[in-house]
Amino acid sequence: MLKVCHLYPDLLNLYGDRGNVIAFTQRCGWRDIPTELIEVNIGEKIDFREMDFLFLGGGSDREQNIMSADLLLRKESLKEAIEEGLVVLAICGGYQMLGQYYLTQEGKKIPGLGILDLYTRAGEKRLIGNVIIESEIEGEIVKVVGFENHSGQTFINDLMPLGKVLAGYGNNGQDGMEGARYKNVFCSYLHGPLLPKNHRLTDMLIELALKRRSIIKEVKVLDDTFEKAAVNVMVNRLLKNK
Ligand code: GLN
Repeated sequence: MLKVCHLYPDLLNLYGDRGNVIAFTQRCGWRDIPTELIEVNIGEKIDFREMDFLFLGGGSDREQNIMSADLLLRKESLKEAIEEGLVVLAICGGYQMLGQYYLTQEGKKIPGLGILDLYTRAGEKRLIGNVIIESEIEGEIVKVVGFENHSGQTFINDLMPLGKVLAGYGNNGQDGMEGARYKNVFCSYLHGPLLPKNHRLTDMLIELALKRRSIIKEVKVLDDTFEKAAVNVMVNRLLKNK
């Protein structure tokens, strides 16, 4: 049984980000791996160490401001779980909140958890559009696709990016990097949602979660004909237009 936690599903769920949780649990289900979904809202208790997969979605500056105080109360327990291998996917606003801070357009500094050594400041121009990155997944370079819409520009210092930008803006539109990786934490600006569009990434997260619990289970190969075709359509269109 894998415990899947969606943190602040009512506040952090931009552009159908909840689809990431659905893709994770569905691909587990197709392999007869049972999952339990735990939704945690402001003020509700959770022990992150007991979770197998944590999802944090995107949110506008307004929503980030609302949940920031509650999130900060969870810092130590989340940090401990992350250091000990919790598998996390954080998208856009959720990604920004794992870093040091988010400096808004109005000059307000929303404090982040500071678990990842990165920071974000709002730029003048929103970075919007389809994205393709090249990401290393289980030793292979894989094209990952999605859609970005953020004013925040993130700088990841010495962290590893999730991938290299082939089309779109990525973290800040300047350094050619997208997202961040730290232990089993995967951060990205890509909505889409990300996991339904990128089955290889989903399967890697499932495998990491199983490995952490030493659940010896051969992850069954699924028929991904449609998933592969959908990625190819986007890659061909976007890279042709460059
Ligand atoms: N508020 C953040 C920004 O605009 C995050 C937006 C998002 O999650 N899509 O940068």
